[in-house]
Amino acid sequence: MAKVRFENAEEIRHAYIVVAPSAEDGWQEALRIAQAAVCQGRPPLPCGKCNACRKALAGLHPDITVIERLTNDAGKKKREVVVDQVREAAADAAILPNEAPRKVYLFKDAEFMNPEAQNASLKFLEEPPNGAVIVLCVSNPGRLLPTVRSRCVEVTVAAENEAEASTMAALAEEYLKRVAAGDRLSLWQFCEENAGISFQEMTEFCLCAEQRVTEALCFRADSMGMGPQQLHALVELMEKCIDYLKVNVNVKQVFGLLETGSILAGKQKRSIN
Ligand SMILES: [Zn+2]
Repeated sequence: MAKVRFENAEEIRHAYIVVAPSAEDGWQEALRIAQAAVCQGRPPLPCGKCNACRKALAGLHPDITVIERLTNDAGKKKREVVVDQVREAAADAAILPNEAPRKVYLFKDAEFMNPEAQNASLKFLEEPPNGAVIVLCVSNPGRLLPTVRSRCVEVTVAAENEAEASTMAALAEEYLKRVAAGDRLSLWQFCEENAGISFQEMTEFCLCAEQRVTEALCFRADSMGMGPQQLHALVELMEKCIDYLKVNVNVKQVFGLLETGSILAGKQKRSIN
């Protein structure tokens, strides 16, 4: 949920990194920072009601620029945000704003900035001309150079909406019960039945399962009937699934990994018994 707010305009810093599990959540937060930077209403900022706030939300504010991967001739997004895009933004910032107190540059998929682009952004991030505000949206801040990160204020957005999170927590609990029971057929059924969940839900599911297993490792009384080896194997499995999701492996394939991995983790249990 997006929630940044500023008591006054002086609180707004010149460079932010918004870290969010999903691009949509990160974008909402970035937009709020942009709104606050151009807001003409009363604090706390953004007021959300003034003309500038509404234009910002509609993507129509002349002083807010969005930088994202360009598309190629076939209409597909290019792999990287390149150095010229950064230079163009920096040059634009040297020109005074049209109507707002300052200009804003939103790097929508900043983790695709290649190293050259990131290096070129250092001066811009450190001292944006005319008090401009720069926001870098990422899901994994590790993709940014330490020199970039050190110049920005990091804002972390928590997981999506609460309802979705609790549904996925329940699903993770169900999955772990079946793993603990060691019944291959019911595990296979589980994977078949849930293969249609969204990418975001799958990520949430894996995070919930990982958290639950970590808890089980810490509190033996709550170990769901699994031994430490099996639990360790499951933590590793969840981490692997999350890594796969990060590189856009599809949900069905991750379920495949989950199914075979869970069975292997179950063998860990038998081997110590
Ligand atoms: Zn406003």
